[in-house]
Amino acid sequence: MSAFPDIETLTDAQSLLHYGRDWTRFWTPAPERVVFPRSTDDVVALVRWAGSSDRRLVPSGGRTGLSGGAVAPGGEVVVSLEKMRRQIELDAVEPSLTVEAGMPVGEVQRTAREAGLFYPVDWAAAGSSQVGGSIATNAGGIRVLRYGMTRQWVRGLVVVDGRGQVLRLNRGLVKNNSGPDLGQLMIGSEGVLGIITEATLALTRPPPTQSVLLLAFADLAALMPALAALQKALSLSAFEFFDRRSVARVEAHTGSSFPLAERADFHAVVEFDDPDGACTDAALQAFEALVEAGHVTDGILSQSEAQAAELWRWREAITESIAPATPYKNDLSVRVSRVPGFLGALEALIARHYPEFEVVWFGHIGDGNLHMNILCPEAMDVADFRAACDGLSPRVFALVREYQGSISAEHGVGLLKRDYLHYSRDAAEIDALRGLKALFDPEGLLNPGKLLA
Ligand SMILES: Cc1cc2nc3c(=O)[nH]c(=O)nc-3n(C[C@H](O)[C@H](O)[C@H](O)COP(=O)(O)OP(=O)(O)OC[C@H]3O[C@@H](n4cnc5c(N)ncnc54)[C@H](O)[C@@H]3O)c2cc1C
Repeated sequence: MSAFPDIETLTDAQSLLHYGRDWTRFWTPAPERVVFPRSTDDVVALVRWAGSSDRRLVPSGGRTGLSGGAVAPGGEVVVSLEKMRRQIELDAVEPSLTVEAGMPVGEVQRTAREAGLFYPVDWAAAGSSQVGGSIATNAGGIRVLRYGMTRQWVRGLVVVDGRGQVLRLNRGLVKNNSGPDLGQLMIGSEGVLGIITEATLALTRPPPTQSVLLLAFADLAALMPALAALQKALSLSAFEFFDRRSVARVEAHTGSSFPLAERADFHAVVEFDDPDGACTDAALQAFEALVEAGHVTDGILSQSEAQAAELWRWREAITESIAPATPYKNDLSVRVSRVPGFLGALEALIARHYPEFEVVWFGHIGDGNLHMNILCPEAMDVADFRAACDGLSPRVFALVREYQGSISAEHGVGLLKRDYLHYSRDAAEIDALRGLKALFDPEGLLNPGKLLA
């Protein structure tokens, strides 16, 4: 058994609780200790120590995850990357930014902005999420419609795998067809194959000024024709929808009043390029055509960047507004054109079996991604609530399978969806995933019990 390496460690109860969990609240954190490596070599030393002393490691980023991926419920050692947050290289020509994995994504965005560049992957928790965590979960967010997921922006990774090997993957290259890209395998692997210690992220030019439309829809069926018409008329960067209950929750949480006179069952925040107001007329014409066609009943077009940010708040504040109600989250996806049918079938399913539950719907509908949030009734114990939702999940996932969708669009599998993976990946695929786990982490040292049972 090798000695514990000289690495900063915390074992006090408060730190174990703080670092032993993510945003989920369904598992009780119980790590043995929390360690703070400062280099890739430190991470190698930790993996080797874990292998020789029968310890298990939970890689930990900003702990904003929503699937229990960074939770340490069983005496594991939490490996927090938060002390590894240095900028390594900003290359303004490529352009790209190489950083240590513990740098918050918000800092990447800020660094890019200060250099006149842009890192486009963005979501409500980007400020506290880390580069390593965002890559391990392949974070998506609000502008996938135009820019894709984190995967599209990763040019290189340094990863310590479960054998203690350092893998330097793709080394920042734009083109590299020398065989399969192992870096892509690490993206979205939720810390079960390796610990990411460095990343090279592609940057791009900032977009022109954006304007925002806030729309109220006549009904669910109106969403897709509206998306198609707006995509034709404008250069969209986001099309985010939310329901009536989301509005009520945000109003209660923030104290703001919803700016539309019309309160519809479904709304959307639509963001589009509008340099110097050049597309304002096209946006108004598209809006009027949607009203005439009976798809849209009300709307507002932002008149300034400040107003655009205010309109965005109605979408961005939903997750924090419902958090006190311990939501049971399901982050589902189907092909974009199937969203209305899928959402309608889900609503009917819940109304039939669990009429007492309040469900809040929102999501990145332009990407076929729905966030279904079942709120815990105030009078109900969280454990009873969780058990009831566990009963509902197989029915929901059977519907996902019927629509050939995914049980996790962007939050990952973690502990929350682990037992349901087979609803959206077939046996041969899961077998191949197990093979990868055995290859990169033969002793099962990394993030035990997550993603794969
Ligand atoms: C308010 C809110 C809104 C959100 N909105 C979105 C959204 O729109 N889109 C979206 O995709 N997600 C969203 N999320 C989920 C979450 O922010 C993302 O999953 C994020 O990418 C997690 O990053 P993190 O650093 O917090 O990772 P953590 O929660 O710390 O960890 C997540 C997973 O990655 C692993 N991991 C962490 N660091 C490393 C590393 N260095 N190497 C290997 N594995 C590692 C962990 O073991 C765990 O399995 C939201 C979360 C919140 C709280």
